[in-house]
Amino acid sequence: MVVVRLKPLEEILETLKGFKRVFIFGCELGSSRCKNGGLKEAKNLGEELEKFGFKVTGIRSPGGTCVLERIASPERNLLKEAEESSDVILSLACGAGTQLIAENVDIPVLTGVSTIFIGAERKGKYFDEYCIACGDCIISKTGGICPVARCPKSLTAGPCGGAIDGKCEIDPSMPCIWYTIAQRLEKLNQPDVLLKLKTPMRDYRKSIYPRRFVVED
Ligand code: SF4
Ligand code: SF4
Repeated sequence: MVVVRLKPLEEILETLKGFKRVFIFGCELGSSRCKNGGLKEAKNLGEELEKFGFKVTGIRSPGGTCVLERIASPERNLLKEAEESSDVILSLACGAGTQLIAENVDIPVLTGVSTIFIGAERKGKYFDEYCIACGDCIISKTGGICPVARCPKSLTAGPCGGAIDGKCEIDPSMPCIWYTIAQRLEKLNQPDVLLKLKTPMRDYRKSIYPRRFVVED
């Protein structure tokens, strides 16, 4: 999922200077899961903004603010609702959702969060970066574990050699992901997979921004 981090209130207040009527969007996918931009956080933020004299004209948190049909369908057009009632939209959705809102309304759209990574969740509390959407996935060759996102140097041809006792030399609080990959392959009885890795493994042309994906008919 896409993980976001709510900005400090002071920063949000600074961004909102000069506006009065604020419509808040959250998102019930990633922003909600990491408890930094779902309906609950949007409501809390709304209450805080009211204390500072803003008029909160509406709070909506669809299940997927980055899906156009979920924020602007003929039956329920949240964007129109926001545009007609407010001076500004404050979005707690990820960067994709916020930009989608911005390109479909004629009032300013500001963000109240920073999008930080694509991660995996455990126990509704721990979120770890697992993927940087490199565009050329190689994890079939690395035991289902991504060294692009999970090695601080994004090494794809094996470890740097700096690990100590299986811990990463950049941050000893985490395992060297290549050590984890080797352990995993050994467990799967595929120890020779690493020996067959080729360099370079990734096609970097697939990482060029911005990318577009089209669903085939
Ligand atoms: S190899 Fe690329 S696409 Fe696959 S998990 Fe890692 S960053 Fe994501
Ligand atoms: S110790 Fe392992 S995880 Fe850390 S930078 Fe080197 S190869 Fe990457």
